[in-house]
Amino acid sequence: YAAKQTGEPVRRWTPALDERAGEFVSLGAEIRTAIDSEQFRVVYQPIVELPSGRVAAVEALVRWEHPARGLVSPAAFIPVAERNGLIVELGEWILRTACHRLAGWRAELGDRAPDKVSVNVSARQLARPHFAATVAAALADSGLPASCLAVEVTETAVFEGGQAVVALHELRALGVRIALDDFGTGHSSLGLLQTVPVDILKVDKSFVDNVTEAGRHTVIAEALHQVSSGLGLAAVAEGVETAAQAEALYRLGYRLLQGYHYGRPVADPDFALSAAIVTTARTNAETRAATDS
Ligand code: C2E
Ligand code: MG
Ligand code: MG
Ligand code: MG
Repeated sequence: YAAKQTGEPVRRWTPALDERAGEFVSLGAEIRTAIDSEQFRVVYQPIVELPSGRVAAVEALVRWEHPARGLVSPAAFIPVAERNGLIVELGEWILRTACHRLAGWRAELGDRAPDKVSVNVSARQLARPHFAATVAAALADSGLPASCLAVEVTETAVFEGGQAVVALHELRALGVRIALDDFGTGHSSLGLLQTVPVDILKVDKSFVDNVTEAGRHTVIAEALHQVSSGLGLAAVAEGVETAAQAEALYRLGYRLLQGYHYGRPVADPDFALSAAIVTTARTNAETRAATDS
């Protein structure tokens, strides 16, 4: 109806659109079954700290091993689960699984375990009145200290303030860290950093892709790092795929890097191996910096 009011032509209902609607409905119905029959998995991607090369944190990412469709991408089913509301139940399961997993690594590996696990949270979860209590219960049941958990939210989820921002304050009060995900791509406003409690900026992959060349993305990547350090926030560069990108980011001041270069999301990351790969990138960056000056 909005389309009519703004004078845009109303799109005709085509068989192609029908098919897409059918797909939407059936995926939505299958998510219910999938939760009950345990088709979801959580995988973990390292977030590496330079110059030590330690895996400082891991990001928990959900996977759906569908019996007929194979592996279904979260980009396909998370929006569906958000619309039909099942993200609340699925999201709580992901949160609990991730907390248990890090608690297990801490018991098994001690100092070699990552300090934190970072869990993606949808706007719809955040808007629920008792979200912070759900998080507190997941921490209590797993025995994971609150300081070992970060929640990743998008700018869009918190842009309108309201209950979502109330929830972030409550999480902060528990000792949970807040990360702004895909920073710079949503309803971006630096003003958000004045009103929303934030500890970590996750600088979107789109600024990392061309960071080896002089250009707009690189200027923005550098500025975002300066803003974060000026505000006392941690900055994580997302989607680092090459050693050259890692070096360029290191030289811009980034000390927390995440991407395929360091490891893909997997069920059981090798924390020691990531350190070896990273040290080379750091050494190269320092060698070049020394040569340049
Ligand atoms: P995100 O939170 O920004 O997660 C990063 C995405 O980038 C992940 O895709 C990850 O596999 C991918 N990635 C990491 N490093 C690289 C790289 O070097 N190159 C490239 N090309 N990609 C990289 P994934 O797992 O497919 O997730 C996509 C999005 O789906 C996530 O983006 C997040 O918004 C959402 N999502 C994933 N898991 C969850 C979850 O448990 N809960 C919620 N609410 N959303 C989730
Ligand atoms: Mg994320
Ligand atoms: Mg992200
Ligand atoms: Mg991203």
